[in-house]
Amino acid sequence: MGCLFCDIASKTIPAEIIYEDDASIVFKDISPKAPTHVLVIPKSHLASLSATSEEHIQLLGHLQRVCAHVAELLELNKSGYRVVTNIGNDGGQTVEHLHYHLLGGRQLNWPPG
Ligand code: 5GP
Ligand code: ZN
Repeated sequence: MGCLFCDIASKTIPAEIIYEDDASIVFKDISPKAPTHVLVIPKSHLASLSATSEEHIQLLGHLQRVCAHVAELLELNKSGYRVVTNIGNDGGQTVEHLHYHLLGGRQLNWPPG
């Protein structure tokens, strides 16, 4: 079975890409939950944070830095923003390729639903 986000990473399926480097790609969420809602993903396939191990520590650190960098590009760093990754059924994960939601542009509620 194919993977939607692998297809977006390889540009087989189009997306509004706002940042890219060797290891990651960032694109707008198709169904935004906040004025700014982008997804930060590794180009290599990983099903979720739960599928990672010691060998992915450098990549995971890089992805978090990409979140902060993109937040700055999108001018969210002064007002604030949220980075969240959903894992599995109870976590609400619907696409099985690791992704960080970067949300901002409004006051976000806590705790999440
Ligand atoms: P999850 O529910 O797995 O945490 O997040 C998956 C996200 O992917 C959702 O916010 C959903 O709106 C987004 N999404 C699903 N399909 C597509 C698509 O084809 N293109 C884009 N850009 N986002 C998508
Ligand atoms: Zn994938």
